Amino acid sequence: MVPQLVSMPCAAEPFDEFEEAPGGAVTTSAGGAFELRPYEGRLGKRRQLRELLQTLEARFLESRERISNAFGPLCRVRKPVILWVHDAHPRLPGCRKPDGWAEALHDEQTTLGFHAEHFVNGDADLDLELDHELIHAAMRDRLGKLAYRKVPHWLREGLALYGAGQGDERLSHLAAGYGTSEDGDLVVKDPKDVIRPLESRKHSLASYAEDVLAVGAIEHEFGPEAVVLLYERVVRGVPYRKAIEAVTGLGWKRFRALAYGYSLAVARRMLLPGRATYASALGLYNRARRAATQRQAAEAKRLYLKAADRFEDFLDRHPESVYRRQALLLLARCWLRGDAADPLGADRVRECLRELLAERGPFRRQARELGGRLEK
Ligand SMILES: [Zn+2]
Repeated sequence: MVPQLVSMPCAAEPFDEFEEAPGGAVTTSAGGAFELRPYEGRLGKRRQLRELLQTLEARFLESRERISNAFGPLCRVRKPVILWVHDAHPRLPGCRKPDGWAEALHDEQTTLGFHAEHFVNGDADLDLELDHELIHAAMRDRLGKLAYRKVPHWLREGLALYGAGQGDERLSHLAAGYGTSEDGDLVVKDPKDVIRPLESRKHSLASYAEDVLAVGAIEHEFGPEAVVLLYERVVRGVPYRKAIEAVTGLGWKRFRALAYGYSLAVARRMLLPGRATYASALGLYNRARRAATQRQAAEAKRLYLKAADRFEDFLDRHPESVYRRQALLLLARCWLRGDAADPLGADRVRECLRELLAERGPFRRQARELGGRLEK
């Protein structure tokens, strides 16, 4: 059984270094702060892409301000940044991980690459990605290649996610991927099944939640200023365990235990409430899907509407749940497949989709697709 509900949108890729810089003409900004590389991909006629290119410059400058507000004046890339929107393709120099949303390349300059497809289809949010990659780039810029590599992956990602405000998003990915199986069974009996102490295994997509929670633990115990102080010490080249000790007063073992305890507590608070109701709704939804594939239309309709009731119940009783977005998406599908002819059902689908599209977060692309189908 695969403990995954719906496919997880891919995260921003870990910061990467490439040997080979992309060539081509660039437009330089008046102040020399950045350069824009022209877009040469297949999606140039798409409205979303044209908007993205038109606003890229202004949004880059805003992002630069936001991250220095978050982490102080040391959080700024000193050399010009090349902004490059391109189609994800493994053969393009600077695009070795096409599944990711954005990436950074370093030589004499910093190139931030954004994969056009993910921004056009609504999976990725440009402001978040700019903030995230710029925080990485500023650290890399201050530290240089070798010292930057000595900062462990969890801390680089934790600081970038925290500074970009991507914590909630990562935690909801954790919930989406690990809460419940396809059949609606509760796979994860305890958050310990998914959250591990720092540095206990290879860094993976799921560990992005641990990374941001570890930084969240510092904020929770010692205040947001402590995170800024930690950032400053790390970019000044203080070895990270010493920097953590200077800021928190805790040696590595004690800090690791604190971060783990905090992460488990947050995960318990987020993953457990309403999970049984959510799981039973999901179980019904999956039974409906199976009935539909076996061409039992009447049974499928009955199960979709029953699942819809249960998702409604879940959303009523747990409005703050991390499963909210998944539940809204599945509820919209239940109505659409159960009884889209019913005007009340169609209205409810629109409400769910409106809520999904109104805020940042996962499942926006799926919501957009469903919206398109509803209007047909
Ligand atoms: Zn990153």
